[in-house]
Amino acid sequence: MTVTDKKKMLLAGTWVEKDETIDVYDPQDNSLITTVPKASRGDMLRAIEAAEEGAKIAASMPVHERVTIIERAASYIEMNREVYAETIASEGSKTITEARREVARCINTLRLSAEEASRIYGETIPFDQMPGHENRVGYYYRFPIGIIAAITPFNDPLNLVAHKIGPAIASGNAMIVKPATMTPLSALLLAEAFVEAGLPRNILSVITGSGSEVGDVLVSHPSIRMVSFTGGLETGTHIANKAGLKKLSMELGSNSPAIVLEDAHVEHAVESCVAGAFGAVGQNCLGVQRIFIDSSIYDSFVEKFVAETKKLKVGDKMDEATDMGPLISEAEAERVERIVEEAIEQGATLLTGGKRDGAFYEPTVLADVSPHATIVRDEIFGPVVSLFAIESLEEAVERANDVPFGLQAGIFTKNIAAAFHAIQHLEVGGIMINDSSDYRIDAMPFGGVKGSGLGREGVRYSILEMTDPKVVNFKLG
Ligand code: NAD
Repeated sequence: MTVTDKKKMLLAGTWVEKDETIDVYDPQDNSLITTVPKASRGDMLRAIEAAEEGAKIAASMPVHERVTIIERAASYIEMNREVYAETIASEGSKTITEARREVARCINTLRLSAEEASRIYGETIPFDQMPGHENRVGYYYRFPIGIIAAITPFNDPLNLVAHKIGPAIASGNAMIVKPATMTPLSALLLAEAFVEAGLPRNILSVITGSGSEVGDVLVSHPSIRMVSFTGGLETGTHIANKAGLKKLSMELGSNSPAIVLEDAHVEHAVESCVAGAFGAVGQNCLGVQRIFIDSSIYDSFVEKFVAETKKLKVGDKMDEATDMGPLISEAEAERVERIVEEAIEQGATLLTGGKRDGAFYEPTVLADVSPHATIVRDEIFGPVVSLFAIESLEEAVERANDVPFGLQAGIFTKNIAAAFHAIQHLEVGGIMINDSSDYRIDAMPFGGVKGSGLGREGVRYSILEMTDPKVVNFKLG
């Protein structure tokens, strides 16, 4: 394991150093971990030029070679899994336990990518359905689209990058990754796995730099055929405006709801929603942010929810006993603190939490929150959840939908008709019955509606986005 020591980025298959660098800090104590190169616009243009060659190599690589390379990369990560976990935990805000889970998911994402590489199928087309088109046979099959730009966020700095590189290589594309400025090391380590696995030069670059400086060059370049972005709505909207005529995959944020009905298993709902609200310090696109509880069980739910929340241990990320580490930066913790204070000024009741210490912010539960408060309208991306009493399922669904986002939702009930009502009427990309919005496996179609995004990830679904059908018609006789 070498990359992070050498402070290099991967530019077209070569590890490159730069005089200008970006400091990477551990948010827990603000200690400097290392530096990474600060790429220039010229570096990004070089990566794009090299990727033009890389796209040709990638497209002509037989599927069995793609499979071998991706499997080798997965095995390399497996062999060095603790280094990967420690890197995630030190540059980001996950605990070591959460980081180990992310490494396991990354290995799974890559193995799924290797499997799916062999399943990129087409279909035959019955041309003779149209009078005058008899005596024709044909089909379509899927071709790689070329060079894909991948831009990724800080909160899952390894697995969300694997969700882009794995399917891109599996489907014969070249890729340029711009990882989050605060957490570039995990993405560089992932690139190292692919270099060690024998990925030909020019197919993959991981360019470290400021999104606002090198991002526009990348997303607006005409050679880039697709932008696969995971991050916030504001950045996603900016990128969509800059990108011009190319495919867009937008995995954006949310303020996900959970609905707990009268007949729910309350202990299970509490446990699932506490984990869903405070995992990764609430810095999770699927995090539970708003819980709508049937008024008949509201008091008992609140009591249990607050008691469970108080059990969470906030502290040193590297301690296996810790449940919650710091937020990604002190500035982020201050932002969360401000939004909670604003909600309290507008009438919200603080049930537990609400205190900040540097980048640490306590797991916080609010009640009586105004429906107009920023804390429920926007994505909080921190450890804060708001509880609401509801009089009916219809009311819960209406209030759950009354926001500009729609990624996933959870509903806790034993009533199949209520579950189907929620499935029909909640405006989201995924509904979890008796799980919170935070439930996901890497093989399922994943993405949102409204301000939560465009397109779907989940390996097989990413491969569909990253390939174009090409139709073939044979006229016979
Ligand atoms: P962000 O939007 O601030 O940044 C995401 C990436 O965009 C970073 O790499 C950043 O450097 C880059 N960037 C910034 N300006 C750019 C520009 N002008 N051009 C190109 N790139 C630019 O997001 P973040 O704070 O890193 O992550 C948190 C957000 O990500 C939350 O909103 C969260 O919900 C979302 N997210 C979504 C999913 C999902 O799959 N739906 C998963 C994880 C996180």
